[in-house]
Amino acid sequence: MKASAYLLPTVKENPADAVVVSHQLLIRAGFIRKLSAGLYHFLPLGLKVLQKIQRIVREEMNLSGALEFELPILTPAELWQQSDRWDKMGKEMFRQKDRHELEYALGPTHEESFVSLMKPILKSYKDLPKNVYQMHTKFRDEIRPRFGVIRSREFIMKDAYSFHLDEESLHKTYELMRRTYRKIFTRCGLATIPVQADSGNMGGSGSEEFMVVSPIGEETLALCSSCGYSGNVEKTPLLVKTQDKPVEVEEMQVVETPGKKTIKEVSEFLSLTEAETIKSVMLRVDEEWNAIVFIRGDREINEVKAKNILLANELRPLADAEIQELGLIPGYTGPVLEKEIAAKLYFDTSILPEKGYVVGANELDKHCKNFVYAREIAGEFVGYDFALVKEKDPCPKCGQELTLEKGIEVGHIFKLGQKYSKAFDLSVMGKNGKPTQTTMGCYGIGINRTMATIIEQDNDDKGIIWPISVAPFEVSLVSLTKKAEELQVIAEIYEYLLAKGIDVLWDDRNLSPGFKLRDSEMIGIPIKLVFGKAFAQEKKYSFTIRKEGIEEQLTYQSKQALWEKVEETRHKLHQELQGPGNS
Ligand code: ATP
Ligand code: MG
Repeated sequence: MKASAYLLPTVKENPADAVVVSHQLLIRAGFIRKLSAGLYHFLPLGLKVLQKIQRIVREEMNLSGALEFELPILTPAELWQQSDRWDKMGKEMFRQKDRHELEYALGPTHEESFVSLMKPILKSYKDLPKNVYQMHTKFRDEIRPRFGVIRSREFIMKDAYSFHLDEESLHKTYELMRRTYRKIFTRCGLATIPVQADSGNMGGSGSEEFMVVSPIGEETLALCSSCGYSGNVEKTPLLVKTQDKPVEVEEMQVVETPGKKTIKEVSEFLSLTEAETIKSVMLRVDEEWNAIVFIRGDREINEVKAKNILLANELRPLADAEIQELGLIPGYTGPVLEKEIAAKLYFDTSILPEKGYVVGANELDKHCKNFVYAREIAGEFVGYDFALVKEKDPCPKCGQELTLEKGIEVGHIFKLGQKYSKAFDLSVMGKNGKPTQTTMGCYGIGINRTMATIIEQDNDDKGIIWPISVAPFEVSLVSLTKKAEELQVIAEIYEYLLAKGIDVLWDDRNLSPGFKLRDSEMIGIPIKLVFGKAFAQEKKYSFTIRKEGIEEQLTYQSKQALWEKVEETRHKLHQELQGPGNS
């Protein structure tokens, strides 16, 4: 491709709303343009990258035996009502009515569509297992679309759904998808870590997210360098050391704590550590009932863990007025209650039942010292794991220290179980001739997010550094000369490379050398050949591998010799991405 006939609408300035480097570079290097919040146009350069990623995903999915489909994006409300998600999906689902006032949604995901499609097709155990997928546009009205195409409102997802007779078969496909994902991301040049993920209230039994470690990641990963454990903090249990030996704790005693409401204020006032106090977290659950979670003062609750324990879709903190309505005092609530209140009490596992803590006294300006669960509360201690794990907490597998990292989720594999096959009664004739309920898995990859994440991982102050597998072009040929004679030789080289099947972009534009070289770096094409002054004088051209940044001055001998050098490098760069992966 000649740049003069192509479109390289690069821009100098970072767009004001682009706060992460992938967003900035995709716009500045001419890959995407913004239409409105969370909506992006893909320009020819951007589309080429997207298509190359899709090709890798498609090749690996097909190799795994999955079957490609394409389903309508627009989905009727009945589908979602049947699985009870029409209301549950809330505001994230774009909804609309047709001319007959019938309701539809622009699919944010396609479990319902695929299950209803496959139900009459899968009849017998002989039709199983099947893994079906599509690569298609999804719509999600995200609360905060941001980071360009990392969190947009319209994006392409590869979504796959597998159908099985039993758990064992589901497990096999799940493991196959796990390996397939590792291959896909390795081929895309991305270093991913599969982490244990929360399966939420979807009722599934196993789930892993494929994460790329990045400071802009919206997820927090807990990693153990000793045993290799990796989990999303939402899923990582807090391992609590049990009490060595019970110590005698003096009687519970009310103490004055005037105006001291927060854990910090109370612990400082009483000269104790925050870990020697218990705080109460008051929650409104699904706007239906109240929960009070008691957790050690130095700990925070994790919302996802809390939602799972409380079987909640929505949680919010109670307002002071609501706390007062319960007969409690904001800032002074404790677990020792004289009378019944309209709230359920929960204790976090961080609380040791035999140990003494400071708790709220349920009286203004007062706390209680020496609260011991086993002594003050009737019944056996039942602790729930609400707590968010912190840096240096013990690994749930081996007990060594955890480290926390931020990560971007590029893919997700999930044992769905029978939620959807039950909702749509997808049963098949079993081996015993009787109808048998099927079980399912689902597997997603965000194509646009993958593209942006590659840039987050590999860039420098000059621009993007594409891995050769997804780069918009493999070779960038930059001619800086304006002399017809030299241009003639360069044109022949260009034609020769094209004829050899090399995807080359020749920057033949009539622009200043500085401008052309800057564009080439920013666009991030892996192999760069520059024909400048030294070509006219000494038949020399420069050869650079973008990611290594080392410029070689080579003497031009023949088109064939040049091609051989390009081909050898191309091969090497492709080979590196085929590696054993990081499984
Ligand atoms: P997140 O927690 O980031 O919102 P999710 O859990 O909602 O992601 P899934 O429903 O598992 O995501 O979707 C599968 C994949 O689709 C994700 O791993 C991600 O790569 C991609 N994806 C999800 N939401 C978006 C979005 N708003 N923009 C771009 N890609 C997305
Ligand atoms: Mg989401």
